[in-house]
Amino acid sequence: MNITDTFRRPIRDLRISATDRCNFRCVYCMPKEVFGPGYQFLKLANLLSYEEIARLAAIFVDLGVQKIRLTGGEPLVRRNIEVLIEMLAAIPGLDLALTTNGSLLEKKAQALRDAGLQRITVSLDSLDNAVFTAMNDAGFPVEKVLAGIGAASAAGLNPVKINMVVKRGVNGDSILAMARFFRGTGHILRFIEYMDVGNANGWRMDDVVTAADIIAMIDAELPLEPVDPSYRGEVANRWRYRDGGGEIGVIASVSQPFCRDCTRARLSSEGKLYTCLFATRAHDLKALVREGASDAEIAEAIAGIWRVRDDRYSQTRSSQTVQLPKVEMSHIGG
Ligand code: SAM
Ligand code: SF4
Ligand code: SF4
Repeated sequence: MNITDTFRRPIRDLRISATDRCNFRCVYCMPKEVFGPGYQFLKLANLLSYEEIARLAAIFVDLGVQKIRLTGGEPLVRRNIEVLIEMLAAIPGLDLALTTNGSLLEKKAQALRDAGLQRITVSLDSLDNAVFTAMNDAGFPVEKVLAGIGAASAAGLNPVKINMVVKRGVNGDSILAMARFFRGTGHILRFIEYMDVGNANGWRMDDVVTAADIIAMIDAELPLEPVDPSYRGEVANRWRYRDGGGEIGVIASVSQPFCRDCTRARLSSEGKLYTCLFATRAHDLKALVREGASDAEIAEAIAGIWRVRDDRYSQTRSSQTVQLPKVEMSHIGG
């Protein structure tokens, strides 16, 4: 079945949050003031089981999904995540990726690869330990993430993508050092504009360093040229070093929204379907699954949700929309 929404956008990508838990407390995602001791995470019985996730994933693929990205919270903190990867890898024709903070990657990379994972993105916000630990707020050192990236590369998950969220006044000074470090490694560094996902992070426009500023800063030292997108709906704007040092990306969802081509759906760890990263409401697929709905009934429900989708939050962002009760990033994983 090929379904499109009210803006004629097909459903092509599905991000699946394996858990709402994380061993980091990144200031832009799970600040301790909100996600500190006492915060109620979901109970295991309320999470979709791996069998339920795999079943829903297959239904999404029948509806047109070609790529699935596992995310979190932190996906590697859910026990035996490689078992889920193996189940998803068995779905024919699927591009299977995962985003991780890298903390458990050194141990897990080979098992993930062996289970059938094809691509990996590792988040790293600075090479400076003082800056990085202030951002992850869990005392986690840079070296361990670098060891995880090395293990992923050795396991054949190349090229590794590296995500760096840039927050003004926090890690803006790390941009050039990150560019220099990853240039020539074959890994693809991607700079992400800090976004107003959820409400916990207290986002302000002033905290955003725009993609244009990031590119200008790098280009002044390491000349860049643009690269054509590889497909419609690609999230990152691609650039390459003019001297052949490789490629970088910038995800400019605040300064250059890309809703027009947004083909992404998100499934939370408790089985709710979100049609936008900034959604204020969701659709409970777990209830359908646990009430005994057939595959055809679930497919029809998803198709019905997608057909009326009219999300374009980033094109309408304003000081009013920032206040809306939006879902937190740790529930849907970016
Ligand atoms: N825990 C994993 C990780 O950090 O890679 C996966 C989930 S995390 C929510 C997915 C991505 O979203 C990470 O690259 C993270 O840096 C990014 N992210 C989180 N909060 C963000 C925000 N407010 N603005 C922009 N990116 C954000
Ligand atoms: Fe955890 Fe990832 Fe959010 Fe950081 S960005 S708190 S690592 S889920
Ligand atoms: Fe897609 Fe919503 Fe992001 Fe726009 S704001 S690109 S519709 S997820």
